[in-house]
Parts: sequence; C-alpha cells; structure tokens
Amino acid sequence: MTTARPGHTEQAGHTEQAGHTEQRVRTRLEPPVGAESGPYWDATREGRLLVQWCLRCDRGIFYPRAFCPYCTGVGGDEVGGPLAWHEASGRATVHAAVVEHRPEAAGALFANGTPYCVALVDLEEGVRMMTNIVGCRPEDVHSGMAVTVCWERLSDGRQLALFRPAEEET
Ligand SMILES: [Zn+2]
Repeated sequence: MTTARPGHTEQAGHTEQAGHTEQRVRTRLEPPVGAESGPYWDATREGRLLVQWCLRCDRGIFYPRAFCPYCTGVGGDEVGGPLAWHEASGRATVHAAVVEHRPEAAGALFANGTPYCVALVDLEEGVRMMTNIVGCRPEDVHSGMAVTVCWERLSDGRQLALFRPAEEET
C-alpha cells in the first residue's frame, strides 16, 4: 500500500511505480531487528502494525521488550505480566512534530535535500512512536493532527511505519 502522494522518504527508499526501478538507491539507515522485536518486524512485511501488550496491565508497550515496564518489579514480581501482540488500527494523532529543514546536515540522505517532518505520534492503542509524516507538506503537520499508518519498504522486505494525514471519515 502506498500513499496517493508519497512523501520524500518514500521516493528515496523505493518506488512502486511499474517499470521505474532504476533509482533504487537505499539511503535510509535501516533499523536492526532487536531481541524482542522480531514479531513486530515480521508483521510489517504484511503491512500490519503490531503493538506489544501487557495482559496484566491491559495496556500497550512500545518499543518491544522482554518485560512490561509498568508492572515488572511491582510487588516483588521480577518478570511482570504476560506479554502478547495486538494489531493496531494504524490510526494515530500527532503529539509533536518538527521540520528538518537541512536534511543533509542531519545526514538524512533519503530526503534528497528536501525538508521532511519528524514526529511523535500517539497510536489509538495508547503508545507513542517516533516516525516521519509523509503525504503532505512537512510544515503543515501540527500536533493534534489525525494521521494513519503507511509503509516504506526496506531492502529486506520489512517495512518502516510512517504516517500520513488521515482521510476524513464520516
Ligand atoms: Zn504490565
């Protein structure tokens, strides 16, 4: 799935347009798969956004980890509640956003020298992620803005969760 008007980050990392594969220069630093984040990354291959969930606290956890940060150690419990994975809706709200006006100074080659937006977004499931907002002008991103997940494919088939402005739902 791609956005109607992909942002700069998507253009640089890959392109889904048929017959247009000559400029597949990978310039984004690709995140490693951590000890606890395997299921998260596997799901991104199918365009599914997973949030780790503590079944005792009944709340989401991000980033993935071995023990719930909220109840581990509470009352002498050394491992916290049992953890599971929940599929997120992909809907989120921008908590805060900044525009990187000089991506080359930040080493962000994927932006091709074009300003881009770095944001913290709050998923409906109650966890906060750092991401890029694409599909609109970076300066138009504001806190409180409704966004929805979209994906940028990485070189190994995993996908990076980015967000774009949500379409109005009636
Ligand atoms: Zn917990």
